[in-house]
Amino acid sequence: MVQFASDNGSPESSNSSTSTGLSDLDDSVNGSLKPTTSSSKDDKKARKKRKRRRTKDGGISEADAQPSSSKRRNSLSKAARDPRDEPERKRKKKNKAEGTETRSPSPVIDFDGLSRPSRGTRERLEESTEQAAARFEKLRGAVRTILECVGEDPDREGVLDTPARYAKAMLFFTKGYQQNVKDIVNNAIFHESHNELVIVKNIEIFSLCEHHLVPFTGKMHIGYIPRNNVIGLSKLPRIAEMFSRRLQVQERLTREVANAIMEVLKPQGVHVIMESAHLCMSMRGVEKTGASTVTSCVLGCFEKKEKTRNEFLSLVGVTRGLA
Ligand SMILES: [Zn+2]
Repeated sequence: MVQFASDNGSPESSNSSTSTGLSDLDDSVNGSLKPTTSSSKDDKKARKKRKRRRTKDGGISEADAQPSSSKRRNSLSKAARDPRDEPERKRKKKNKAEGTETRSPSPVIDFDGLSRPSRGTRERLEESTEQAAARFEKLRGAVRTILECVGEDPDREGVLDTPARYAKAMLFFTKGYQQNVKDIVNNAIFHESHNELVIVKNIEIFSLCEHHLVPFTGKMHIGYIPRNNVIGLSKLPRIAEMFSRRLQVQERLTREVANAIMEVLKPQGVHVIMESAHLCMSMRGVEKTGASTVTSCVLGCFEKKEKTRNEFLSLVGVTRGLA
């Protein structure tokens, strides 16, 4: 009877200690301690006492008492019953997650190659002709609203067709939402033993800053070192264009292109550099017309070898030691 009650009580009390915000360490101590104490009568008593105390004050006094007890400290070195209670393992997991965050935090290509899994992207990719027409009408109406809001007469002859024209242009500027890396690459990956630096430079980029919907334009340089496979050279500018025809920030655009190449080609390394001028900087805000922004993303062997990085930088004509 007593045995039943105390056994029944233990998981319950460990639940309550979790909900009161006690540390995981605390949980694991309770868990691993249990089997070792079940034989002795005194320990049973002590357990009951502890349990009573815990239900009274939410386990606070027990938590305070624990560090001073050498018995409990010993139990830390024993294997925890539940793997989730094991403090060592938790620490390891955390370290691993920290390590992956240093470079390329997320794989840009998801299972279908869409590379930005958002509801809107998928809807736009899969829409019917009717849905596309409805989208266009909605956008046209919104642009008409903008005209009204800036103080124009939307029925004035000069701007009468502007909403439709702008809607069409906007859908073109963002056509990258309807494309995916898989279709663009289209199996244009060829086995080739060339394992030296391949560069496509001065790729013109026209993108829209996602913060202001204002253009930023510039040039992108892509370099990679193959690992027995090369990609059709025209595919590199096309990958860059796909990502630039979405709302972007330059840093992400650079990274997404590098990650995409890394993902589809699995080369030894990729280095992408982009230099561009942002209209949101030059037309508003700081109004510095001459400023250009340079971003760089290095993956694989470029990350490890300075010599390889410098070879790329000197070949594309960007200042040495920049990346
Ligand atoms: Zn901006």
